[in-house]
Amino acid sequence: MPITVTTLGTGNPLPDPNRAGPSTLVEAGGTRLLLDAGRGVLMRLAAAGVLPMMLDAVLLTHLHSDHITDLNDVITTHWVMTGQPTPLHIYGPPRTQEIVDAILAMLAPDFSYRLAHHDDLNWLPVIEVHELTPPMELQIGEARIVARSTDHRPVEPTIGYRIEHGTASVAIAGDTVPCAGLDELCASADVYVQTVIREDLVRLIPNGRIRDILDYHSSIEQAAVTAARNKVGTLLCTHCVPSLQPAMAEEWRAMAAAHFGGAIVMADDLTSITVGS
Ligand SMILES: [Zn+2]
Ligand SMILES: [Zn+2]
Repeated sequence: MPITVTTLGTGNPLPDPNRAGPSTLVEAGGTRLLLDAGRGVLMRLAAAGVLPMMLDAVLLTHLHSDHITDLNDVITTHWVMTGQPTPLHIYGPPRTQEIVDAILAMLAPDFSYRLAHHDDLNWLPVIEVHELTPPMELQIGEARIVARSTDHRPVEPTIGYRIEHGTASVAIAGDTVPCAGLDELCASADVYVQTVIREDLVRLIPNGRIRDILDYHSSIEQAAVTAARNKVGTLLCTHCVPSLQPAMAEEWRAMAAAHFGGAIVMADDLTSITVGS
């Protein structure tokens, strides 16, 4: 059975009318995993033909707001669309439980309204949080998961995931600069999904707060060098900063191609790649 990776949201923290926030769907055989839950995640998930109750797990790379802002929507919609108490499994770094507890507290009025209104709904959301401390390996359904620490400091800890099924493998890096953990995840992976920035363009922006992002994101060139060093099959670039304009996609791709001879895809929302057989 193959792995299909679909970029649900390819935006960055700045609102973009054409790009949802960071989120990726990985379907490993019959196992469905949601990686991060950025702005508009459920709209794009529905477009991919998947509803929250069809997810086996949510995996969070880190707790930056742009990667978790719609986790509340995943939790609420999973709850109201299931016919019986059904756990939603959320994996993430330490403090994930704190985030989930705060979301549940925020939703307390909604819970009370719906419990009062629906005779057949008499339970609260069942959330099982699994805080991970890499290096770790785990099994979720048909997917073998490798979790490694990445480097997005001062955001700590952050986690990248490698998802394996049969002979197929996909590395979901999240926000990180090149590091040893990232290399482990990427080793001979069929697909390497990396959030990327254009250092040359970001340096032109006369705003210190935006230039700060240079500290802890992979440039498009660094992503390509990581891809080449680890002999991945396809480099799938997402979460571009500045936001990727269609007319610029070829320029971004060419900058990566100078360092990496494999396939390079500049993702839009709902770009999908299937590997393995
Ligand atoms: Zn981040
Ligand atoms: Zn981010």
